[in-house]
Amino acid sequence: LLDDKIVKIREDFSYLDEQKLGRKIIYLDNAATSQKPNCVIDAVSDYYKYQNANPHRGAHYLTVKATEAYENARSSIAKFINAKSSDEIIFTRNTTESLNLIAYSYALENLKKDDEILITILEHHSNFTTWHYVAEKTGAKLKIVYLDDNFSVDMTDFENKLTSKTKLVSVTGASNVTSCMPDIEKIVELSHKNGAIVVVDGAQLAPHKKVDMQKINCDFFAISGHKMLSPMGIGILYGKKDILDNMKPFMYGGEMIEYVYEDYSTFTLSPTRFEAGTMNVGGAIGLAKAIEYMEAIGMDNIYERERQLSEYAVSQLNKIPYIDIYYPQNAKNVGSAIAFNVKEIHPHDVASILDNFNIAVRSGHHCAMPLHKYLKINASCRASISFYNTKQEIDEFLTHLEDVRRTLGYGLE
Ligand code: PMP
Repeated sequence: LLDDKIVKIREDFSYLDEQKLGRKIIYLDNAATSQKPNCVIDAVSDYYKYQNANPHRGAHYLTVKATEAYENARSSIAKFINAKSSDEIIFTRNTTESLNLIAYSYALENLKKDDEILITILEHHSNFTTWHYVAEKTGAKLKIVYLDDNFSVDMTDFENKLTSKTKLVSVTGASNVTSCMPDIEKIVELSHKNGAIVVVDGAQLAPHKKVDMQKINCDFFAISGHKMLSPMGIGILYGKKDILDNMKPFMYGGEMIEYVYEDYSTFTLSPTRFEAGTMNVGGAIGLAKAIEYMEAIGMDNIYERERQLSEYAVSQLNKIPYIDIYYPQNAKNVGSAIAFNVKEIHPHDVASILDNFNIAVRSGHHCAMPLHKYLKINASCRASISFYNTKQEIDEFLTHLEDVRRTLGYGLE
């Protein structure tokens, strides 16, 4: 993406209006949540102004409009991730809910004592605690794959731990800490050969790189809208239709039923089977608009731009003696969240001092405590870059790392 194009893109983001915001912000916390372009905010607002009614309920003009808007959003998302049909797209609140839906409606029903669940040490707590719960309830065993010395999944360890007892593999598409993008196609292929189903946590992958459900061939894929330019409270669970239609509902209530009798009920198929109650229609429309916006820029351009910016940031950080960095060097595919520590200084202090210079980075364990423990650190800082960031912003961030050291009385070696 050329710089003049980025200048234009940045006009779409109101948080960059220093006067209205009350201060300048160099936003490097995109992995926590992205900023939202004005067209997304306008799409949500227009929906509530001119199309608001409860979809799938009733026959009047507005409810038909709302249904169309909601179902068109589902179709856009199906196309965006190349699902076979929009029936494979379930609206949820976020990745966490999508993973819980699989745990409750698939795993608790299908796993039994001594079956095995395989995850990696990279996983976000939402892809960890969910399986702790399933293991506790079913008696299945949770096994964990560790990393190679480039902060990526050790595929030999994966192959060793994948056995005929493995019934479910759940792996991140991109780590929110190390940015590693495991070879999910290979993981799916190996897991299917062993008869296991595969869940991909796509929260940090879908916003940054083109994903293709038919190519990846995973059974489930979870997405959070708010990390990809959309409002909070809207997420996606992709699932293969034949698996979804054989799963029990997750929640019970209106719209997911076929018939309700006094003593029992029957249910629709996917996707409505999993969408009990009134849904976040504005959120779905916002997500569809965000996808339209990203596709206009081009997912390959987004990935390339973020890759260039993060490669630049990593190469500069590598030169600083007081920085420890937890990022795969020279990886074929990699995300743009860069976890690091400033030697001798607690990450929260680093983040607070950087905040004084208008720089927003995350500090803590980033909902990945087991990974931090594995890396033998308590916490880290994370600068996560989006396509709408600039090289100048990265330079300011790098410059102010020196101020972090100076503020606390440390030298620059
Ligand atoms: N997985 C990964 C890799 C994430 O980065 C996050 C969000 N930090 C989640 C899952 C959970 O997303 P949400 O809070 O939107 O459910």
